[in-house]
Amino acid sequence: MFIDGRKGLHLVITGAPGTGKGTHAGVIKRHFNICHLSAGEMLREEIRKRTEVGKKLEPLLAGGNFAPDELIMEMVAKRIREDDCRNGFILDGFPRTLKQAEFLDKMLLENGIKLDAVLEIIVPDDVIIRRILGRYTCVTCGESYSDDFHKPQVKGVCDICGGRKFSKRLDDTEETVERRLVKYRDFTYPTIAYYREKGILRVVNGNGDVADVSARIDEVLGFN
Ligand SMILES: [Zn+2]
Repeated sequence: MFIDGRKGLHLVITGAPGTGKGTHAGVIKRHFNICHLSAGEMLREEIRKRTEVGKKLEPLLAGGNFAPDELIMEMVAKRIREDDCRNGFILDGFPRTLKQAEFLDKMLLENGIKLDAVLEIIVPDDVIIRRILGRYTCVTCGESYSDDFHKPQVKGVCDICGGRKFSKRLDDTEETVERRLVKYRDFTYPTIAYYREKGILRVVNGNGDVADVSARIDEVLGFN
């Protein structure tokens, strides 16, 4: 919602790495024609383009660390003003720290936007590790897949764009996954408490296939 009552949908999707945030953000994005802002994708884009920022980021992310708050906040602030976000957005991988959550509130207020809900997806750790080690992304459109729970309908062909090139993330190794889970608990848990306090947190069980989880999400967000 916008503060002046215009329509729009503004969501945050959160959860540990490998809980299916990217996949479900994609489903919601297509359904409501809003933009999907993945902090991780935006950062990896900087690295791919070999920008100054990207060169600094590469060793940090490869080691399973977070990107600096300031940098992420600047990227998100710029992106939500672009045209494809006029119907709203779903933020994925941001805010990741309490500082980022407070910044987001301030920034949304300045833009006359109110966050509708924060969706937390919960999945057991052993399932997360198995999923992450088996996941890959369409190079053309960014859709994420997993041999474990979300295979393309035709082997080797993207369901969304028909692309045939897929890539795996460099940081999807068992060691960095465990580090990312610890970091998630240390830094992102406080944001969950923050949103629970505000009364906009919605929690969903993310274990199971995409269609089942998607139906549960529609229910907790009141979409049906
Ligand atoms: Zn694709």
